Amino acid sequence: METSVKEGGYASEYGHFIDGAWVGGHNGETIALLNPATGAHLSHIQSGSAPDVDRAVASAKDAAAQWAGSSPEARQELLTEIASRIKAKALDYARLETLNNGKPISEAVMLDIPLAAGQFELFAGAAFHIHGETMTYPDALGFTFREPMGVCAQIIPWNAPFLMFAAKVAPALAAGNAVVMKPSEMVCLSVMQLMADIADILPPGLVNVVTGYGAAVGESLVSHPDVNKVGFTGSVATARKIMNYASANIIPQTLELGGKSAHIVCADADIPAAVESAIMSTVLNKGEVCLSGSRLYLHESIADEFLERMKRGLDNLIQGDPLDPTVQIGAQASGAQMAKIRSYLSLGIEEGATVYAGGDVAHVEGLDAGLFVQPTIFTDVSPEMRIMKEEIFGPVVCATTWSDEVEVIKLANQSRYGLAAGVWSKDIVRAHRIAQKLQAGTIFVNRYYNLKLGMPIGGYKESGFGREFGLEAIKYYTQLKSVVVNMTEGPIGLYG
Ligand code: NAD
Repeated sequence: METSVKEGGYASEYGHFIDGAWVGGHNGETIALLNPATGAHLSHIQSGSAPDVDRAVASAKDAAAQWAGSSPEARQELLTEIASRIKAKALDYARLETLNNGKPISEAVMLDIPLAAGQFELFAGAAFHIHGETMTYPDALGFTFREPMGVCAQIIPWNAPFLMFAAKVAPALAAGNAVVMKPSEMVCLSVMQLMADIADILPPGLVNVVTGYGAAVGESLVSHPDVNKVGFTGSVATARKIMNYASANIIPQTLELGGKSAHIVCADADIPAAVESAIMSTVLNKGEVCLSGSRLYLHESIADEFLERMKRGLDNLIQGDPLDPTVQIGAQASGAQMAKIRSYLSLGIEEGATVYAGGDVAHVEGLDAGLFVQPTIFTDVSPEMRIMKEEIFGPVVCATTWSDEVEVIKLANQSRYGLAAGVWSKDIVRAHRIAQKLQAGTIFVNRYYNLKLGMPIGGYKESGFGREFGLEAIKYYTQLKSVVVNMTEGPIGLYG
């Protein structure tokens, strides 16, 4: 199947990428990729099914056997080259991510694409640091070895596919595995084009991409007898199914799931900086970020001033065509996500919360079919409200006040999630004290979304388990073997 790039930097249709070639799907059905800011059709992907998965896994199995014996130099060289190609076409990938996802292009340029290149650079270096340990005994030597898992099934969502692809593929390849990736059926244009751009440097079968709906591709992939590990990023509901599928062959899982992260502002915080962070943590990627600080806990002495400043900031945001470099809040990624956010906007009012800012869909002139939501602050919220407990995944924050440190920590931890949290205080002892007590995988102190290359990300509680984005990921893409070498001669003398 030809995947020829047309004007605009992407193809009108992408096949599955299996065994180093673009192939049509078994059932011949396709899925349209759309631009959520305009409703325009962009491209088609294959609607995969079990026979496509079988082909991809068979190819990955052969490639994994070869790649497991590759040198650290070869792994480093491949990952470095992928990073270089991403950087060389950074603006093009940013544009594709924006076109299909609706995020402002300034965010794709500043965050998604460089962070993705950074993942490949980070794990290029890691290829030389995958090693075990030694133990010495009076009569033996012990060695541990980190060996590749084999074929890794990887499933990613639609909110930041380019970065998720990098965070999954880079450690898997560095550790000597092969991959069968299933990106989101709604947003994956940037990933498909990246595959087209790196096809010539990938050994056939090392990275396969099978597109399609979750149930159709996901179940056959994760329960396939030749798949040895699953790395999943997505919702808790799907994660439960993944765990079920993975139980067929007892394979290990890394699950990066949702969040409802607490963002705590103390009375002595740097208020302008904290307001900026609270705005960012509400509207970055139009709130479609797992780490979003969507529960805002403001000390009662600064709450009024804080909320006034925050509302002013939100009112001044430029919302519109995400391809416009001045735009600060783009379009929600899909009609389904838009409907979900709208239902939570209504629910908030039904539950008795006050709409302090926003609260409705937004209309952008000239983009009537665009999926835009006003950035929204709910106040007068209480812990039992669903808008305080459930992940909305849109530009919506619930703000409340506190006076007692012990109490606010308790409230912050009162969540089934534990992906991230933020704390603002100029008192470093207080900031550390709170950070230590928060039950979350990442704590941002005095700057939310302070994403640093190499810092692991992952969840406590129902936000999942395993870690990605840092060297820790290597542990989850290898298995440990212990070798014990006897250093004495002759039998032990047990049996005569
Ligand atoms: P989702 O669970 O609906 O889908 C994620 C992926 O799983 C998609 O590729 C989808 O096609 C696939 N899928 C769906 N049903 C499946 C099934 N039965 N078997 C196998 N695969 C299946 O999630 P989403 O709506 O695409 O993404 C949003 C969620 O992802 C949010 O909860 C968000 O917090 C989470 N997320 C987490 C992180 C993190 O690092 N922790 C990062 C980004 C997003």
